[in-house]
Amino acid sequence: MFDPATIDRFKSLKTPFYYYDLNLLRQTLGEIKTHGLDKGYHVHYAIKANFNFRILEIVREAGLGIDCVSGNEIERAIEAGFKPSQIAFAGVGKTDEEIEIGLKYEIYSFNCESLQEIDVLNQLAEKSGKHANVSIRLNPNVEAKTHKYITTGLTENKFGINPDKLPLLFEMLPKLKNISLTGIHFHIGSQIIDLQPFIDLCEKVNRVQDLFEQNDILLQHINVGGGYGINYETPDEEPVPDFKSFFEVFDRNLEIRDGQQVHFELGRSIVGQCGSLISKVLFIKEGLNTNFAVLDAGMTELIRPALYQAAHRVDPLTSTLPEKTYDVVGPICESSDTFRKGIQLPELKRGDLVAIRSAGAYGEVMSSGFNLRERVKAVYSE
Ligand SMILES: *Cc1c(COP(=O)(O)O)cnc(C)c1O
Repeated sequence: MFDPATIDRFKSLKTPFYYYDLNLLRQTLGEIKTHGLDKGYHVHYAIKANFNFRILEIVREAGLGIDCVSGNEIERAIEAGFKPSQIAFAGVGKTDEEIEIGLKYEIYSFNCESLQEIDVLNQLAEKSGKHANVSIRLNPNVEAKTHKYITTGLTENKFGINPDKLPLLFEMLPKLKNISLTGIHFHIGSQIIDLQPFIDLCEKVNRVQDLFEQNDILLQHINVGGGYGINYETPDEEPVPDFKSFFEVFDRNLEIRDGQQVHFELGRSIVGQCGSLISKVLFIKEGLNTNFAVLDAGMTELIRPALYQAAHRVDPLTSTLPEKTYDVVGPICESSDTFRKGIQLPELKRGDLVAIRSAGAYGEVMSSGFNLRERVKAVYSE
């Protein structure tokens, strides 16, 4: 995965740092163009996965829009050169100030998650003399078969509204003069590898569409969200996710009405594989049944293992010795600060470099200053 010149470059840099392979990002976006954009689908990059300007620039050049979940993300997208007409704004708890940012730029869609939010949006739009386009986020009660913290489409989750509340929405709408309901929105979770949940989602969308038609509401936008997963175990076997199969699910199963646009909001599957966290071994110590490799990166740089029990592949970059058993851990004062337990790796010594792979999404952006550690930096392949 990393050529000798790149590893030499790593040796001259202060660790830990995130390394982004921008060529792989371009290749990934190329597949999205071929199998998604070129078929007329609209794809919004979920900026929360990674908001670095270098990444945003390449995403913009590929012709994608942006999916935001905060007012600052809207500002960042505008700063990175995206047009307001390409920006959707989701989120279960938008503040008045954040809604006003969206109104100011006249973004393409507010993806609203409750009836109360729609009412507040209408009031704020009236106050500022604006008109807002709304997609209502519906909770399809589809099991995404992923980690429970990143499952979002079940009735028990806080996201969206239950379709059985739609009659209330239909009653409200004529009174709300400063909004137009232009679409429906869904997002069932993240790191979804099995395509069946997306097939189930399509079926739910088709049934919900019937309800809108029965109420003479014509929807322009069907937004099916994101959540497509990546191969964390063997990233080199699948550096670019299989977007052909992903988009085909929607070709085959979604019943699209004339003139309707279909939107996607992909985050992880776009940027996940292009990023690695590069770290140095500080110390090796023998445990009872394993050896501990203590890295200079920890949960402050990459929290996914501690938060979601995520297993990122750890690739030694500077050792070719016979293998030993390791727990690969960080320096933070918590036992959850562990990247991997009991894995076989070429023998590591103090000063060896390792790459923690598939860390481009929800890695650097979730880093923290816990323990007053320095904020982790980004390095690019070009
Ligand atoms: C986070 C998020 C996404 C992107 O999810 P991925 O799993 O990274 O593709 C899309 N839509 C909404 C509303 C989100 O909150």
